[in-house]
Amino acid sequence: MQGWNLSEGFKPFNDLDDLAVISLVNKALGSGVARTTSYKFGFFKSLLDNLFNVDEKDHSLSFNTIFTTFSETYYNLIVKWNISQISGKNNSVSSVRKIIDAFILKYPEINVEFIPFDSLKSSLQVELIKKIESEGKKYVIGAFYGDTEGQLYQFSKKEHKIWINPGVYRILMRLKNTFEKMNYFEWMKFLEKCNDDDKLNSLSNKIDNSTKRSNLNLYRNFLLLNGQHRCAYCGKEISRLENNTPVDHIIPWSFVKDDRLWNLTLTCQTCNSKKSNKLPLRDYIIITEKRNDIILLKYENKDLVENKELVKKDFKNYTNKKYDNIYDSAIFNGLDRDWHSSKYINSINSEEWQKIF
Ligand SMILES: [Zn+2]
Repeated sequence: MQGWNLSEGFKPFNDLDDLAVISLVNKALGSGVARTTSYKFGFFKSLLDNLFNVDEKDHSLSFNTIFTTFSETYYNLIVKWNISQISGKNNSVSSVRKIIDAFILKYPEINVEFIPFDSLKSSLQVELIKKIESEGKKYVIGAFYGDTEGQLYQFSKKEHKIWINPGVYRILMRLKNTFEKMNYFEWMKFLEKCNDDDKLNSLSNKIDNSTKRSNLNLYRNFLLLNGQHRCAYCGKEISRLENNTPVDHIIPWSFVKDDRLWNLTLTCQTCNSKKSNKLPLRDYIIITEKRNDIILLKYENKDLVENKELVKKDFKNYTNKKYDNIYDSAIFNGLDRDWHSSKYINSINSEEWQKIF
């Protein structure tokens, strides 16, 4: 099915089971569908990475959300690692690379020493995302829609949104890691054809970590400012003066692929290294949900101005129920689970314990 030049796509959705969705995605990512650039992989990554930001009322995702991830991924892969994203080893330049090259020419200070995407000034991030979105939406949204026979999502370029097939959304959530692996494998095969060997070492890490934050200072400061003064896992007191207190993704970053306040907390160094990439006990999620309620209630206050935008942005489309679902999904996807600090068990019934703030 051709689709790249459509301005909208509203083919009615069919009911698809797991196998049908796997087959559809396999076909769209496979080499049978000829593409000269890697955009379909970058787009599908952006979709998977933003599954937890979907508005569950209508399963919509804005172009802006998708292309924010897309821009960050490409910026880091192209500027940091110089990995070509277009077929043909030497002379071809992808349109995204042209945009990024022009951007760097305009702001040469970026190139003196590599600045990761998340450390760019926010006005620069916005400028680059806007340019990449306007190019990307022309081709990739309709093309991938066509490649998946209009069954993964509907879209409208006028409304700047896609709407994911609700049945497919549930399957993508449940099998997120599986789809991610399918995507990375095909993407890596594609990149091996477009790049010389010296660019390809640690390729899976380069792709997987392309949206990883270089620092979470913003969140550390927020949590300290709002009164978290103990490690969320063992209760050990955290010195307010320490500026290297670990900020932990409660459901690991490797699964969520996003930094949002609702999933972040402060820990001591010991818990942080022991927990590592594991999923904590569900009790910790329940406690965090209570904390999230407190943050939301607090920031409803009109007089509170500082950090209001951050809370609004990070909690957009958040519900406690969704957090439960993400946790279930992480278990289903095989994450090492039920980690807890040994000190936690002793205090499990303590009221005091349950107050992070
Ligand atoms: Zn601790």
